[in-house]
Amino acid sequence: MGDQPLDQHTSPILDAPQPLTLATPIQFAPNVGQRRADLFQKLNIRIIADLIKHIPHRYEYNAGTLPINQLQKDATATVRALVVNCRWVGPPSRFSKQKGRFELAVEDQSGRLDIVAFNAAYLRDKVKPGREVIVSGKVTLYNAVSQMVNPKITIINDDNPPPSDEWATERYRPIYPATESLPSPEIERIIRKTLPLVAHEIEDHFDAPYRDRRNLPTLRDTYQTLHAPQSEEDVKTARRRLAYDELLLLQLGFAVKRKHTHLELEAPALRYSDAIDQHIRSRFPFILTDAQDNVIRQITTDLQKSSPMNRLLQGDVGSGKTIVALYALLLAVTSEKQGALMAPTELLAEQHFLSISQILAESDVKITLLTGSLTKPQRTAALYDIEKGNTDIVIGTHAILTESVNFKDLAVTIIDEQHRFGVVQRAALKAKANHQQAAPHTLVMTATPIPRTLSLTVFGDLDVSTIDKLPPGRKPITTKRVTPDNADKVYQYTAEQLQKGRQAYIVLPTIDENDSGLKAVRTHADQLNKTHFKGLNIAIIHSQIKREARQRLMQHFRDGKYHALIATTVIEVGVDVPNASIMIVEHAERFGLAQLHQLRGRVGRGKDKSLCVFIADPTTEDGEQRLAAITNSTDGFKIAEADLKIRGMGELVGSKQSGLPPLQIADLTTHFDLLHLAKRDADSLVDDDPKLIKPSHELLRKRLIKQYGKALGLADVA
Ligand code: ADP
Ligand code: MG
Repeated sequence: MGDQPLDQHTSPILDAPQPLTLATPIQFAPNVGQRRADLFQKLNIRIIADLIKHIPHRYEYNAGTLPINQLQKDATATVRALVVNCRWVGPPSRFSKQKGRFELAVEDQSGRLDIVAFNAAYLRDKVKPGREVIVSGKVTLYNAVSQMVNPKITIINDDNPPPSDEWATERYRPIYPATESLPSPEIERIIRKTLPLVAHEIEDHFDAPYRDRRNLPTLRDTYQTLHAPQSEEDVKTARRRLAYDELLLLQLGFAVKRKHTHLELEAPALRYSDAIDQHIRSRFPFILTDAQDNVIRQITTDLQKSSPMNRLLQGDVGSGKTIVALYALLLAVTSEKQGALMAPTELLAEQHFLSISQILAESDVKITLLTGSLTKPQRTAALYDIEKGNTDIVIGTHAILTESVNFKDLAVTIIDEQHRFGVVQRAALKAKANHQQAAPHTLVMTATPIPRTLSLTVFGDLDVSTIDKLPPGRKPITTKRVTPDNADKVYQYTAEQLQKGRQAYIVLPTIDENDSGLKAVRTHADQLNKTHFKGLNIAIIHSQIKREARQRLMQHFRDGKYHALIATTVIEVGVDVPNASIMIVEHAERFGLAQLHQLRGRVGRGKDKSLCVFIADPTTEDGEQRLAAITNSTDGFKIAEADLKIRGMGELVGSKQSGLPPLQIADLTTHFDLLHLAKRDADSLVDDDPKLIKPSHELLRKRLIKQYGKALGLADVA
């Protein structure tokens, strides 16, 4: 529906295309015209198809109107009647603080009904004897006369005629997303007139056997039902169909992409042997854990193939993902090709650069750091080395994505901390390969574990590996939550620990104090210097500090020259200083759950027992829930699930992080089975017809491209 682009210019009403089709501009729909067409624009409704797809977000059950003499005490009922009498009882001035009530009596042919509407001063100008009204409410009896108190009153006049004759009979009344100038009843009226004129045009992208096997109604029935259901059951069935379509299209998009990657894209098959494996491991400063070995096995299997790897590596904070990434990069280098490692922040890129440089110090592998804060000549030199193949491994930020970076022979790309990167950015990185059909192997790493449902929807085009155990020797982190008035005790204790040679991070939400009244990095550091941390060596770090200073600072912290770092969340991800064993987060209620978990993950990396203190004073329910979740668990998977519950699924799926349009109908908390059905169906459709070019798939293909073509970069695929 609505696939025909609407590019012909339509001029005034005289030229109204006849007859009405799904592609007709909305202004030609019955009762619309230019003025309302403009109002429809605000709801993103431009053609009739958009109108049909504008489905109610809820329904009001309407039992139909009853004659007054049939009203039952205590029942809720609707009556249509004439106003015979009305008066305002209360202060004459509309602006008076004193309360009042509006009383009216209405009659139909069968009897009289008294109505009291408390404080409804606004009715004074609107309701007059002789006016017709529809009132709905609970019936009471007062002196043997039927009465309603505070019923819903709809005044019928020329601007607002009664909805239709069907108003009188029992039905579910659709409530549409609407605007003030285009209210729901008006939309309802227009849809009721329009739908019968175009319903025959609604084409299904599935045939009857396909629908029947899955118990899905036709699209035509679906829309007809949603605009005028007979029962709640009806609505459920119809919504299930739309939810299925939505999930199927998404899974289909992923399946087409995966198939395309597999069948048409070439990646260099990397050399692998026991000798190579031994050689790489001999560089590593520790023995890999079984969990790391497992995922390395999966990755090396992929890397030996000539179709690109597309893999998500998840593992909790501190589980040792970096060394796995390095293994993959070195496999590229062994085959005389290049590898790239991309991090979400400059600080993290710098940390990776330092630690990987250290590990490879004795080798002749050449590593280049490429971030936005290189000077022009540095950058020019780096780009030259990358292009000429003088460098083997490039470590950087998003800067690697910019157009001017050309690799000589990029074989492996690693994207660290994926929760900051969407499908869209990944697509850009793929474009770095040196010819059309070539793509590097890609490994995406995240410490924010993604519940299975979500990974199917947001990262549905990736295979998944998991590091499920931390390296040995980790001491559990003690987590404490304290209120701001106990902060002094915390700093007193911390100072004692720092004297003994431990190191600490103190994280604040802002760099400078501003109107927010929050504690900030600079002022807090000054404060601590004068008080608890007098005589100790502390440094501040945040995004405004220049790269070289920042690198020096981190190096000095690592070398133990500073006792404490007072920082913003620039240290949130990736920073790895094993001797740091105390983390204090001020205003912890201001941070997201995943963020708190990441921050806590900066400690607990060395031989000392670690402590994490959240200083917080939550004022919202969400803030309270986040703090409870973070203090109750150190397990990243549990925390991710708690996060989902607090934030809701929908927000994550349609988030900027995912780069995908939000799901409109499907609700992943209830449509779990449907999601799996959709995935299975999508996979088998694509196995049968990888590019969906069979005539029977034409409509499905068109709708897929319309919905996800852009977000999933399907243009060159399907
Ligand atoms: P993350 O998964 O959060 O990126 P890192 O890769 O930064 O974790 O590793 C966390 C710490 O664990 C680092 O100090 C790293 O050197 C260390 N580490 C990783 N793997 C092992 C291992 N197999 N044995 C001992 N220490 C390890
Ligand atoms: Mg990491």
